[in-house]
Amino acid sequence: MLGSEEAKAIHKSHPAIDLHADTLMWSRWLGYDLHQRHTPPLPLGALGGHVDLPRMRDGGMGAQFFGLVSLPMHRRAAGLARVIDEQIDALEENIARRPGALHLVRTQEEIDACNASGAQAALLGIEGAHALEGSLERLEGFARRGVRYLGLLHFSDNEVGYPAYGRGQRDHDGLTPFGYDLVRKCESLGVIVDLAHINRRGFLDACTVATRPVMVTHTGVLGVYEHWRNIDDAQLRAVADTGGCIGVIFCPRFLGGDGLDPVVAHLKHILDVAGEDAPALGSDWDGFIVPTKDLQDPRGLPLLTDAMLKAGFSERAIGKILRGNVLRVVHDNPVPR
Ligand SMILES: [Zn+2]
Repeated sequence: MLGSEEAKAIHKSHPAIDLHADTLMWSRWLGYDLHQRHTPPLPLGALGGHVDLPRMRDGGMGAQFFGLVSLPMHRRAAGLARVIDEQIDALEENIARRPGALHLVRTQEEIDACNASGAQAALLGIEGAHALEGSLERLEGFARRGVRYLGLLHFSDNEVGYPAYGRGQRDHDGLTPFGYDLVRKCESLGVIVDLAHINRRGFLDACTVATRPVMVTHTGVLGVYEHWRNIDDAQLRAVADTGGCIGVIFCPRFLGGDGLDPVVAHLKHILDVAGEDAPALGSDWDGFIVPTKDLQDPRGLPLLTDAMLKAGFSERAIGKILRGNVLRVVHDNPVPR
């Protein structure tokens, strides 16, 4: 394991949780095996092959949220929901292949129990409500299969609203009536609302109507770097007002620079603007991004912890960023029994 003794100790007491990796897309396409160490990664190079269980252990991780992706450029098409189901199937196959190493979990208690047993935890989130194919009821089926968050938008407009960037991009319109219904539906099912990729107006609408903490699973912040993919201080505060958290993406294109320091700068800005209960990790590993130097896979996380220590973050704040803030948001979005 990389990193200082101090960083290793922090990861031991706070095994890291990352909010977004698209690894199951590779499992569905290529049979990518989560149990196998991939070094070097996939032949497609830096764009994928970032996450597997051996490297999660090396990186002092406890849990990974896997994003479930369905054709991000399509507004509405039959078969999108099936693509999501096939990625969940791929996770279940991976879990069955080596019993006891990886568990699909839903609650804070299950994450803690899984990690206490020495296993890694997998959680599920859907990226883009177009995967529901226009049906609120479809979310019930996904929730039953373990889906814990729903990203409202991806790279095209859908029944819910408009993307920050992509097909059908529109700045002045927010959530549609269906979008409001969907936020309520999410809350009734314990599915966390994820505001990555949605336009600013829809983002703020969702925070206003939310009665449970929301997440932004993978993003950068405009206060550090001007980019369409990033969110402003009012958005950070709006998330914090719901009790939610914001995962910083590890993509240098959005962070405005390569290496650990830009990641720390974005985390620090969230902490300064929205408080230490807000920042979290949202790598976007395996999501067609080239990750930043030193964080090309989970093994680099203890180095990020060292960089946060060097930047003056308290151990308490680091524990929250690595794990505590995500656990709290999961806990505060209870799954109905
Ligand atoms: Zn994304």
